[in-house]
Amino acid sequence: MNKFKKIVDIIVTTIYPNKCLGCGKILDDDNYLCEECNAKIERNDLEKICLNCGLEEHDCVCKYNVYRFNSLITVFKNQGVAQKICYNYKFKKRQHYVRFFAKEICNAIGNCYDNVEFDFVCAVPSFDRFGFDHSGYIARAVAKKLNLPFYNNMLQCVKKTKKQHKSSYKERLSNVDDKYCTTQSISTVNVLLIDDIKTTGATLDECAKQLLFAGADSVYCVSVLGSVTNIEK
Ligand SMILES: [Zn+2]
Ligand SMILES: [Zn+2]
Repeated sequence: MNKFKKIVDIIVTTIYPNKCLGCGKILDDDNYLCEECNAKIERNDLEKICLNCGLEEHDCVCKYNVYRFNSLITVFKNQGVAQKICYNYKFKKRQHYVRFFAKEICNAIGNCYDNVEFDFVCAVPSFDRFGFDHSGYIARAVAKKLNLPFYNNMLQCVKKTKKQHKSSYKERLSNVDDKYCTTQSISTVNVLLIDDIKTTGATLDECAKQLLFAGADSVYCVSVLGSVTNIEK
């Protein structure tokens, strides 16, 4: 049986070799990145991260923004290899990348939220519920890894907004105001909220507002990418 499994493994890896998510190079192990991409990828230094805005201390925007979530970690900077991987995931719909994101997110949670007991995981919803649920797929994989319930429809998007990437922080805040709603009341729970790309934090802030309004005790956020672009200083 073992021999059979080995043969199947060899056939599968010959047809579908494991490739580096960053550069596409064929890997002879089951890692997600080749050595070069792993050395190059722009991870935030979790020792130096400001847990209020999720950015490294020298990029901290806390004096410009007051968020309603309890804490935020952004795992990677929004540039280079990490940006390429995240954009390929989101826009080329490479769903299998979620395993890489879940691994990195769980590592960050183990480092920064080690003392928090979460009750469930949910995600920033996308407007098209039947489309590519980019944050939801990651949140589901994180929940599975942490052995926590995943509340798929906890948050819903009720208002379509114009594309946000060129909006200022203030425009974003008003764009997302009441964009989301919760679908059930909750009480005294610690929520782990997942997003793929955090820009100003306005979306996470609005989702946290709704979760707190629904009865959550605290909302801890993690996003794969975090950037400081478009912040009005
Ligand atoms: Zn590579
Ligand atoms: Zn900060």
